[in-house]
Amino acid sequence: MHCPFCNAHDTRVIDSRLVAEGGQVRRRRECLSCSERFTTYESAELMMPRLIKQDGSRVPFDDQKLRAGILRSLEKRPVSVERIEESINRLKHQLQATGEREIKSRDVGEMVMSELQRLDEVAYIRFASVYRRFQDLNEFREEIDRLEKEPRPE
Ligand SMILES: [Zn+2]
Repeated sequence: MHCPFCNAHDTRVIDSRLVAEGGQVRRRRECLSCSERFTTYESAELMMPRLIKQDGSRVPFDDQKLRAGILRSLEKRPVSVERIEESINRLKHQLQATGEREIKSRDVGEMVMSELQRLDEVAYIRFASVYRRFQDLNEFREEIDRLEKEPRPE
């Protein structure tokens, strides 16, 4: 880390401690050239990737939008808020874990669908019908047949 006062390359850490309940490291540093002291804070960067839409445009990840889509599919379904929150957290974690800076919104949709499939099959079908834009009843039927054959992911 360069000294912010004189730009010297060599600075040394004179104190280091955890802050923000362990989420950050606070370091006191001293410049070896000018002896000025300064503080740095270090924390893990957990960025949500930006979404690449069908038309190629990029939009920031929108927590509210994700949540709204999931809640809409689960309307009046017997799934607890707790399980829904777990699912949303798992999704966000998965997205961060990709380490990608950009991700196709289609891939996010697939991830949402596999979460919904674990939660509630009706919600899954609702989401899939909008998301995959089922053209007719046959596509619906095929998807339901597929679900029945496929063992439920746990
Ligand atoms: Zn300095």
